[in-house]
Amino acid sequence: MNVLPGFRRASRIASLEISEIVQLTEHAAALRAEGRDVIALSTGEPDFPTPAHVIQAAHAAALAGKTRYPATAGTPELRDAIAQRNGVTRAEVIVSTGAKQVLANAMLASLDEGDEVIVPAPYWTSYSDIVAMAGGTPVVVPCSMAQSFKITPASLRAAITPKTRWIMLNSPSNPSGAIYSAGEQRALADVLAKHPHVLILVDEIYEHLSYVPFSSFKSAAPELAERILIVNGVSKAYSMTGWRIGWGVGPAAMIRAMGAVQGQVTSGACSVSQAAALAALQGDESLLESRRETLHARRDKVVAALNAVPGIRCPTPDGAFYVFPDVTGAMQRGGYANDADFCAGLLDRAGLAIVPGRAFGLPGHVRLSFAYSEAELDAGLSRIAEILKGN
Ligand code: PMP
Repeated sequence: MNVLPGFRRASRIASLEISEIVQLTEHAAALRAEGRDVIALSTGEPDFPTPAHVIQAAHAAALAGKTRYPATAGTPELRDAIAQRNGVTRAEVIVSTGAKQVLANAMLASLDEGDEVIVPAPYWTSYSDIVAMAGGTPVVVPCSMAQSFKITPASLRAAITPKTRWIMLNSPSNPSGAIYSAGEQRALADVLAKHPHVLILVDEIYEHLSYVPFSSFKSAAPELAERILIVNGVSKAYSMTGWRIGWGVGPAAMIRAMGAVQGQVTSGACSVSQAAALAALQGDESLLESRRETLHARRDKVVAALNAVPGIRCPTPDGAFYVFPDVTGAMQRGGYANDADFCAGLLDRAGLAIVPGRAFGLPGHVRLSFAYSEAELDAGLSRIAEILKGN
């Protein structure tokens, strides 16, 4: 959309639009502001508050004068705390303005025009946009519900070409909640071992929100360490989405290049937020366990309620706080042409905002977040049941 006279979009971002999740959530908020009764189960954000000790640490840091430009790659204390957790050195860690910036840094630092990035679908919406923005070509590999939304060694092998630069793995996954077991990771690693030109991005931001045992890709494939970038952060586990702190752990040369990019875009991440993130990592983590239990109970309730609706098939996610049911039956029964129409219909007729699967590269599904209060979940679920029961 070229709206200003004289303005022309760069070809790299010719088709880049504001994320469908953001558009939908903003639309729901606008309807609510008009007085409509709208429930949004669309955002990937825990409803819990940031722990008090984290906020206190930020306050103390600001009062102590930690208000100046921090080092570009992160404060030494936070980088060391992350390094220690990951069994690496400080030079192998970069702190950024959210995990999202880690992804952008990595792509900007490594992609040449036309380089390919394998993105198993369903994927978090930003993956393909960030790749395209950096001049790369996302190679989307559909992973159906029948294969638990996970890429198989055979389809990975088939997607690799001489131009492949990265594969992006996300476990636990947004939007499917899928978690790769150590065995599945090992099988993918065996394929990747034969293609040394492929780098491996492993987004583990939902690590602490696993309802089955979680295993990090790097521990299943230590021999690939020189090619692995781990992405993680405090947003999801510690309810710190607004503080904007994420990090990357990878080979020093890669981290240095990402730091060079970051230095020209944002400089170091917010100094006060870094002090807060350090307190989160060093503080009492028992809260993580109790919050996970709460989410676990919500998950079971949401899965059961959705499976009771005719035309919806909802697998149980192993991690994160989303369900990604197949709604093709419900779409057909209701006369909706596709998942986007289905979601538009739910918003219009039932005042419920959820995200169509096409935003995640896998149409025919929808994503609901269960990081909402029991009351909102109950209301949202009964609206779906109500509107679909007559169809
Ligand atoms: N990766 C995944 C899979 C996510 O779902 C998100 C947030 N929706 C991010 C990264 C980005 O998180 P952050 O808030 O740290 O930028």
